[in-house]
Amino acid sequence: MGETLNIGCHLSSSKGYLFMGKQMMSMGGNTFQFFTRNPRGSKAKAIDPEDAAALCRLMEQEGFAKILAHAPYTLNPASADPKVRTFALMTIQDDLERMEYTPGQMYNFHPGSHVGQGMEEGIRLISELLNEVLKPEQTTTVLLETMAGKGSEVGGRFEELAEILRRVELSDHMGVCLDTCHVHDGGYDIVNDLDGVLEEFDRIVGLDRLKAIHINDSKNPLASHKDRHEVIGGGFIGLPAFERIINHPRLRRLPFYLETPNEIAGYTAEIALLKSRYRSDETSHAIEP
Ligand code: FE
Ligand code: FE
Ligand code: ZN
Repeated sequence: MGETLNIGCHLSSSKGYLFMGKQMMSMGGNTFQFFTRNPRGSKAKAIDPEDAAALCRLMEQEGFAKILAHAPYTLNPASADPKVRTFALMTIQDDLERMEYTPGQMYNFHPGSHVGQGMEEGIRLISELLNEVLKPEQTTTVLLETMAGKGSEVGGRFEELAEILRRVELSDHMGVCLDTCHVHDGGYDIVNDLDGVLEEFDRIVGLDRLKAIHINDSKNPLASHKDRHEVIGGGFIGLPAFERIINHPRLRRLPFYLETPNEIAGYTAEIALLKSRYRSDETSHAIEP
C-alpha cells in the first residue's frame, strides 16, 4: 500500500524550525509538536521567516504530515478573571499570527478550567474567546484537546467539546486533538472498547473533526482523572491497545504525536516501535465502516 504511519513527538523549539524538522528526520518520524513559546506562558521569541520557510520546504520535500503547535498550558480561556482571559486571548491571537509563517498547520490548546463558575459558563467563555480570535483568512486549524477531567477542566467529556464547536462561528477552522492518556483517565475505555469510544466520539463530536492524536500511555487506571503520562507500553493503556489505535481504520491516517516522559533517544525508540507495529496490509481496510 505504501502507507506510512504519521508519527513524531514533542520537540524543543529552542534551535528553531528547520532544526526540528531535521531532528525529526534523524529520529525516523515525519511530524512533530512544539511549544509556541515557554509552556508556562511569557513572551515568544521573534520568528525568523527564512527559518520557517526552510522548514516548510523540508516538510514538502520529505512528505511530512502536518505539524502541531501547542499553546502554553497555563492559559485559561475559561477563567472568571477578565485579566486572565485577556492574557489567553492575546497569547492565542499572537500565536495564530506567528503560525502563518508555517501556513496550513495545526495549533492545539487546552480549553481551560471553569474554577467554580460551572461547566456551562466555562464553555460560554471559551467559545466567546474563539469567536474573537478566529479569522476567516487564517490557514491554521485550531484544535481543542480532550482533557482528563481533572478538577474543573473543560473538555473531559466529548459533549463539552461538541458544545464549544457548535458555538464557534468559524468552526471550519477548528478540530479536536484526542490525547489517549487524557481520554483514558477521563473514563473512556480505549483499551477494551476502542470501537465503542470512537462511535461515541463520532455521534457527539463527529470523527471528521478529529485531526490529531497525542499518543501517551497513562500512569493511572481508567477514569482516574489524573493526567500523568507514561512511556508507551509502560502504563495502564499498554502496547496492544496502542497497536489497535494506530491501525484502526478511522485513526490510521491521522498524525500521532508522542508526549511521553522521554528524552530524544527514548522518543526515537518509541517511534521505531510504533512504526514496527503499523500494518499496511489489506485486512485493516476490509473492516472499514
Ligand atoms: Fe496538551
Ligand atoms: Fe496532550
Ligand atoms: Zn496530559
